[in-house]
Order: sequence, then C-alpha cells, then structure tokens
Amino acid sequence: MAAVFRTGIRGTTEEWVKIVADRGLGKYIVVGEYISSKHTVTLQHVVCGHIYTILPSNFMQGRRCPECGKNKRWNHLDHHKIKI
Ligand SMILES: [Zn+2]
Repeated sequence: MAAVFRTGIRGTTEEWVKIVADRGLGKYIVVGEYISSKHTVTLQHVVCGHIYTILPSNFMQGRRCPECGKNKRWNHLDHHKIKI
C-alpha cells in the first residue's frame, strides 16, 4: 500500500512526491518511481482509489484522475476545488 522508493535517487522522486502532494492537495499519492519527465509515473487517486499512469508534465498542467474525469459532475467539483 505504501509507496516504496528506491533510495539513492537524489531529488527527483522525493521532489515529485512533494509536487503530487502539493498540487494534488493530498488527494494523490505516488505509487511508482519517478524516472524522468519523459517517463510516465504511477499515481493513485486516494478519493476513488484509481491507480493510473500519467506524464509528470500532464499532472502539473492540471490533468487529474481519468476515472473521476469520466464523470462530469466529479470533474466539475474537482476543478472547482482544486485551483492550480
Ligand atoms: Zn479518481
């Protein structure tokens, strides 16, 4: 359940975890490892439990859980609450 990160990677994954926690308002957790901005990362949306992969840049641009995004109502609420 808890995310396990390989130690020895300075900055990157740790920084990514902080970004996700910060921008995702604590609603997203990093499941996998951050490799680079060109590699997808695995996130879990804790609200619905959906695990998915996304490019870091897309997440930073405000793209969120695709599962919740399918539902317009959810999407609306999400956008309403989360201002980047
Ligand atoms: Zn979701």
